[in-house]
Amino acid sequence: MLAGPTAVGKGTVSADVRDRYPQVWLSVSATTRSPRPGEVDGVHYLFVSAEEFDRMVAADEMLEWAVVHGRNRYGTPRRPVEQKLAAGVPVLLEIDLQGARQVRDAVTASGLQARFVFLAPPSFDELVRRLVGRGTEDSEERERRLATARVELAAEKEFDVTIVNDDVHRATDELVSVMGVGSTTPVAG
Ligand code: 5GP
Repeated sequence: MLAGPTAVGKGTVSADVRDRYPQVWLSVSATTRSPRPGEVDGVHYLFVSAEEFDRMVAADEMLEWAVVHGRNRYGTPRRPVEQKLAAGVPVLLEIDLQGARQVRDAVTASGLQARFVFLAPPSFDELVRRLVGRGTEDSEERERRLATARVELAAEKEFDVTIVNDDVHRATDELVSVMGVGSTTPVAG
């Protein structure tokens, strides 16, 4: 389970896992936010209406869910995760801190094996540079995300492992190694 502050590169590391370690299954979150350019429904997220999100929560179909950056809701559909784990497939959840805490409670209750990995930026200044550089959010949304990031950085100590995202391939390799799948040869490219 991978968490970390906004814009630290969780999405980039996840995409790198998808590209180079196809033996790892990436959970597809449901979200009420709108797709960004290039995002594909069912691949990057399940883009759902607020009503559909309500229904999934009420039906206990979410392993965890949270309002992220005080705005949109994001959640992990429970069934696909349970099916993959039952089949012995390593699962990667890329979620925010509130979600990570819920998963920790669920894991503690179920006895499932999970590692909680915190992806950290090389520095806070670097995090700000990345957030501004991405250019996909307006200034109000950026401020909101930076406020979230400050709180999230302070939560590092709750995690089993910290990985510094100084280099994407290196961070990815360390992540899959923590998941116990790093000893196999990654797919080239
Ligand atoms: P973004 O809108 O940039 O794709 O994601 C915003 C934040 O939502 C990121 O910090 C990401 O980790 C978090 N997030 C994505 N999916 C989930 C999810 O299923 N559950 C929770 N709790 N957070 C999520």
